[in-house]
Amino acid sequence: MARRRGGRVRATPGLGGPRPDPYAFGHGDPRFHVEHYDLELDYRVRTNRLSGTAHLRVRTLEPLSELRLDLSGLSVHGVLVDGAPPARYRHRGGTLTVRLADPAPAQTVLGVHVTYAGAPRPVASPWGEVGWEELEDGVIVASQPTGAPSWFPCNDRPDDRATYRTSVTVENPYVVVAHGTPVAARPRAGATTWEFDEPYPTSTYLATVQIGRYADVVLVDAPVRQRVLVPPHLVAGARRRLARQPQMMDAFVDLFGPYPFDAYTLVVTPDPLEIPLEAQGMAVFGSNHLGSGADDDAGRLVPHELAHQWFGNSVSVAGWQHIWLNEGFACYAEWLWSEVSGGPTTDALASDHHDALARLPQDLTLADPGPSDLFDDRVYKRGALTLHALRRTLGDAPYRELVHTWTGRHRGGTVTTADLRALAAEVAGRSGGEAQVARVEELLTDWLDRPALPPLPGPAPSLPRRLLDHLRHPTSSRAPS
Ligand SMILES: [Zn+2]
Repeated sequence: MARRRGGRVRATPGLGGPRPDPYAFGHGDPRFHVEHYDLELDYRVRTNRLSGTAHLRVRTLEPLSELRLDLSGLSVHGVLVDGAPPARYRHRGGTLTVRLADPAPAQTVLGVHVTYAGAPRPVASPWGEVGWEELEDGVIVASQPTGAPSWFPCNDRPDDRATYRTSVTVENPYVVVAHGTPVAARPRAGATTWEFDEPYPTSTYLATVQIGRYADVVLVDAPVRQRVLVPPHLVAGARRRLARQPQMMDAFVDLFGPYPFDAYTLVVTPDPLEIPLEAQGMAVFGSNHLGSGADDDAGRLVPHELAHQWFGNSVSVAGWQHIWLNEGFACYAEWLWSEVSGGPTTDALASDHHDALARLPQDLTLADPGPSDLFDDRVYKRGALTLHALRRTLGDAPYRELVHTWTGRHRGGTVTTADLRALAAEVAGRSGGEAQVARVEELLTDWLDRPALPPLPGPAPSLPRRLLDHLRHPTSSRAPS
């Protein structure tokens, strides 16, 4: 996501052990894994009434006598496990506890079926309300980090990644877009059932449903299909502001590696939003970001959200402690795109932001920022500066190898800060031997583990001439349709 305004977090106890993870916010259960969510939702926009059935394919990771799922603000009408009633279930305080009829050994696969209904509303969080939220005329779901339980029962941890089938029935003429590939839109009496198949491992916070009176505009068909769902009166403004999406995708594929999903869908809501937010294969912007009267600063948010498809959505964090790996790469992508598109260079932006950070309190460590500072702007900017410092120290070619290896090796998986350190050492060793490994390890210790802001090292890097030339003066005949 782009940065939210700060807030204070009261860490709530986690589950499953004497030392709860303060970064889990009391959500999720590490004792089991949900492999697949099959969601059938029926929603009335006018009355904000949601009724759903969720079928979860659960794999136990240790012997279990009960499952704890997250579900907030909705009423549970029934639970079945492998087609039969469980010993009992209880839904209280946002937790659905299902006591199994028989204890399940580790590696048992269970089919958990939950029927539920109610008036969905967002979950309160220290960063504002997150999750399913009514617009003036439609719905937005923006769940980072803890909003997923506002609309389906789930194991709400960023590292518990599943495939999805999502079916949503809504009255006409509303359009529904969910994450994944659209597979059907079946008319019913006065309504339409929209169905989506998500084959990629997806964290719960990246699952989404958007409902509105949207026009569906294709920006470019190949090599990656990009489209925008936008209220008809905002189509012209959005087209103009997204005119360089094909070049941005080309640049990011060159810089980061192959695009990790089948398509990219942008949504522009008719309402203004405080911040845009990423979802799997999608990004959601407000009318204030991509409408005709949008402010110019919004331009940097478009590359930020696209970059999250590689950093955060395909390669996901194993826990919220490692958030800088999402936001540092996404913020750095803003600076890279600035240079590629003819604006200030990455190096000039890094220097400016380094100067600005130097004037702020230096009481935050990137590798362990604390739950209350997850979305502090310093995490974003220092994260990007850490990558710039790493690029200056490694050199352009080894840095490029690092990024491409990162997105390739961890595609569909989860990562920690330790994984980035290990890869940096690996790449440094190949390019400069033991002395370079020691240099990189010392650099990362200063940037990640110590609060004081280190100086930017080494000479300024530059993007490859061919990339800049190609993107500033594209010779390809491909154009947005
Ligand atoms: Zn972000």
